[in-house]
Amino acid sequence: MKIEDFPRDIQPYLLPSHEGKMTYRCLGCNKQFGIERLLYVCPDCGQVLLLEDQTPQRLKDIPGRLWQQIFDYRRMLNIPALKGIYRYHEFIGPVIPLEAVVYLGEAHTPLVEANLSLQQKIGGRFFFKNDGQNPSASFKDRGMASAFSYINFMLQTGSLSNVLAICASTGDTSAAAALYASYLVPQVKSAVLLPHKKVTPQQLSQPLGSGAAVFEIPGVFDDCMKVVEALSEKYNVALLNSKNAWRILGQESYSYEIAQDLDYDLANIAVVVPIGNAGNITAVMSGFMKFYEAGIISTLPKIVGVQSEHANPVYRYYQQPDAAKRRFAPVTVKASVAQAAMIGNPVSMPRVIHLVERYNRQAGGERTFFVQVSEQEIMDWELAANRNGHIACTHGGECLAGLAAAMAQGILADQDVAVLDSTAHALKFSGFQEMYFARQFPAEYRISPKPELVNAPVHVRPENLDRVPAPGHPLEGKEFVRFVNAMAGEIARRLDLRTV
Ligand SMILES: *Cc1c(COP(=O)(O)O)cnc(C)c1O
Ligand SMILES: [Zn+2]
Repeated sequence: MKIEDFPRDIQPYLLPSHEGKMTYRCLGCNKQFGIERLLYVCPDCGQVLLLEDQTPQRLKDIPGRLWQQIFDYRRMLNIPALKGIYRYHEFIGPVIPLEAVVYLGEAHTPLVEANLSLQQKIGGRFFFKNDGQNPSASFKDRGMASAFSYINFMLQTGSLSNVLAICASTGDTSAAAALYASYLVPQVKSAVLLPHKKVTPQQLSQPLGSGAAVFEIPGVFDDCMKVVEALSEKYNVALLNSKNAWRILGQESYSYEIAQDLDYDLANIAVVVPIGNAGNITAVMSGFMKFYEAGIISTLPKIVGVQSEHANPVYRYYQQPDAAKRRFAPVTVKASVAQAAMIGNPVSMPRVIHLVERYNRQAGGERTFFVQVSEQEIMDWELAANRNGHIACTHGGECLAGLAAAMAQGILADQDVAVLDSTAHALKFSGFQEMYFARQFPAEYRISPKPELVNAPVHVRPENLDRVPAPGHPLEGKEFVRFVNAMAGEIARRLDLRTV
């Protein structure tokens, strides 16, 4: 729809102007720093940063009801820069002009309600939000759209040139970073560091296809992260890990979309997210709080963070009920099918601690919960989801397993409706499905396939056929008819079909 066709009172709000002032805020010493420089940690104390809007009153001056209308009408615009995360421009990056926005089709991912059979199996109503339907097939694109729009803005204003974007990754960060960097060639190039043999072949092919320099490092993600941190401290590179606070801003769009798709009524909603480096759960909490403070939603939904038993430092931290006694201790990770979350020392842990406290305070009670699940549960629930019309990756399976655990522990009330983050596309992690089906999981995963969930192709080759078609050697005439009939007969026999 064209601007002039919208109601007159909404027209002035449809196109956001770039304005406001943003600063980095250190979560250690509380100091503020300007955004003219790319910063990842506090130059004074080394702690992680969050980006802060210095003119939040601007957002409160517009009533919540009007914001809702602005976003709902904006959804009808055909302006690419406003189709993705920047539909919520004022909340995500008010200083970014629309001309600098990098939009590759990310965000606006669907909420898909589980069918009756799966809801009965779980014992409650729930949706998957399919973030695997992003351009690089994971939610990481939301954060990259934000970080690269900012980089693009700096390139356009001449405050940056010849950027080398660099990141450590469990697979999806590098796929997303390399994709967005390749859109900005030749001014931007990318390099990614991956733990050797700890990303799937699909994830490895993604940055290679985008033209990134790809380095495989011995060890696990936590080791890669240290190498990348060393590089970003010593050399002139742009760090694209979620340590980069611009990533968090973009990922907040996930919460805004849930709010909008549920008509801003989050009274009985529980949002379930997997936790790895903890950037995602940080963004999800931060997003809901911003909408709450602006009066766009009137309830903060429950947040359920899920970890595998094989990589559970955040879960362990919150096991101590007395906040004063909690001490964070990194864990040594074990093999996990939720491989993108196989992280023992999450970079965003200080952000989680800070935001969980604020979230519960604003909500006026405990609204954040942490559960852990087994590798077996992750695989079984992933396969169950996908047998019921979903495209959940292992982390989507982890969320479903987490929902089952949360229901068992009474974290969800009867009327609660859950929204599960299916953070990537099933195809990225199909190797785990193959291992399950072939009963070839290495012992360290502790997964034994359930016969009823195993599936395998059947090679059909009736014995009474002496010739079958082959590429370049088709069958003809009677021979071909005999082949078709024999095959159809064999398949009908195996499927137990009856003649009409
Ligand atoms: C990165 C990632 C996660 C974990 O997100 P964090 O922000 O690191 O906690 C979960 N699932 C998938 C598919 C991912 O790529
Ligand atoms: Zn500091």
